[in-house]
Amino acid sequence: MALKTGDQYVQSLKDLNLEAHVMGRRTGDLPDHGLVGPSVRAVALTYDAAHDRETRDLFRVHSPLCSGEVNRFSHLHQSADDLIKKVLMQRYCGHATGCCFQRCVGLDAANAIFSTTFECDQKHGTDYHQRFQKYWAWIQQDDLVVDGAMTDPKGDRGKRPAEQTDPDMFVRVKDRRPGGIVVSGAKLHQTGMLNSHEILVMPTMNMRPGEEAWAVCFAVPTTAEGIRYIYGRQASDTRKLEASTLDMGNPVYGGQEVMTVFEDVFVPDERIFLDGEIDFSGAMVERFASYHRQSYGGCKVGVGDVLIGATALIARMNGVEKAGHIREKIVEMIHLNETLFACGIACSARGYQTPAGNYQVDMLLANVCKLNVTRFPYEIARLATDVAGGLLGTMPSAADLDDPLAGPYIRKYLAAADGVAVVDRMKVLRLIENLVAGAGAVGYLIESMHGAGPPAAQRIMIGRQADLEGKIERVKQLLDIG
Ligand code: SF4
Ligand code: FE
Repeated sequence: MALKTGDQYVQSLKDLNLEAHVMGRRTGDLPDHGLVGPSVRAVALTYDAAHDRETRDLFRVHSPLCSGEVNRFSHLHQSADDLIKKVLMQRYCGHATGCCFQRCVGLDAANAIFSTTFECDQKHGTDYHQRFQKYWAWIQQDDLVVDGAMTDPKGDRGKRPAEQTDPDMFVRVKDRRPGGIVVSGAKLHQTGMLNSHEILVMPTMNMRPGEEAWAVCFAVPTTAEGIRYIYGRQASDTRKLEASTLDMGNPVYGGQEVMTVFEDVFVPDERIFLDGEIDFSGAMVERFASYHRQSYGGCKVGVGDVLIGATALIARMNGVEKAGHIREKIVEMIHLNETLFACGIACSARGYQTPAGNYQVDMLLANVCKLNVTRFPYEIARLATDVAGGLLGTMPSAADLDDPLAGPYIRKYLAAADGVAVVDRMKVLRLIENLVAGAGAVGYLIESMHGAGPPAAQRIMIGRQADLEGKIERVKQLLDIG
């Protein structure tokens, strides 16, 4: 079993020949498409890091499931230390790419499904866990990318799945055939879907009696018949199609979000991991969400490192790095970023073993982590915008920099500290712009708010996990109140 390199991964993706609707066109050859390519490169880095001398020890881990060495992005966590290493790996990737590198969703889904199927089998006599073990051992051995798909469109938010005018508003079992089920519906906001070999579909929320058809978890290849992909737009994304990479901000990497439609997709029995057991739908959702909320304590921190570095660099280029208020702002950015990291590490360090044997993060601390992520990157972005200055929103284009008439004026009037090339100053400003207001802000800001669930979802979990009654009881004892 050999771990793939980035190039081998890209080739394996090309071999899939996936098609998507991209900006009004049905498009193939996606890894070479200008809009899609940066997101493929970000995932490819997660493969190369398993070979790079500096990072390979962090990215490689022994898996008892397939009795071999696997990429940590497909590992079932065997200890709290594994959970910590996951966060370190994600921070590294965020720092190296400056964007969402997409490969964590399947990892988080796998760990949640592994433990939930075990407990479901014990209660209901099903054989989902064995099926999943077999499936995931294959994923590990072939070093594949799996997208975890949870978020349903939900239609009228005031109605339950069975009450919707259109039952497809939540992915459901529409039909049964010998040897499997037929599913229908859609998943929105699917990070890295077109860069994946496989999809793990999970329910979007706790299902109740009468909602068995929507309590379904299964795996399908991204090439399965009946699946249609519609590419998500991001702010300033067509800059990726321009001749110069300067205005892109992040010239190499980028994220990817995709609307995924399931139109009567057949799923064979061996790929079904929950089918009507409503009492385990909520656990699956909560565990996945907690893992992904932990993830943000790594990936967003890594992207934060990029924004902090770029902000400090532009301050230096502008000649203001020694000003007291600039230093204070940069220290504040670091403080906020490291607070997120501390939360990611804390929920990992307090992880515990599930009955299935893998490790689950501390759910209270993982939700605290993500609730902070819904705020701090916005404050870090505000401070970066403050330090960078107004040019962030008014700078001429790369094409004008190359223009024989306009170019010399730009070089003359955008000069700042001695020795700083104007083009370099423009590169740094474009990178900051990318993260606070451009395509990168999808990953750094909007996803920080809504990815792994919006803040209200974290507040519900925090309220549930915090043992408020226990705290009240202790106060009563302290005060001798009956
Ligand atoms: Fe991974 Fe972060 Fe992207 Fe989620 S948002 S897939 S955790 S990089
Ligand atoms: Fe995400």
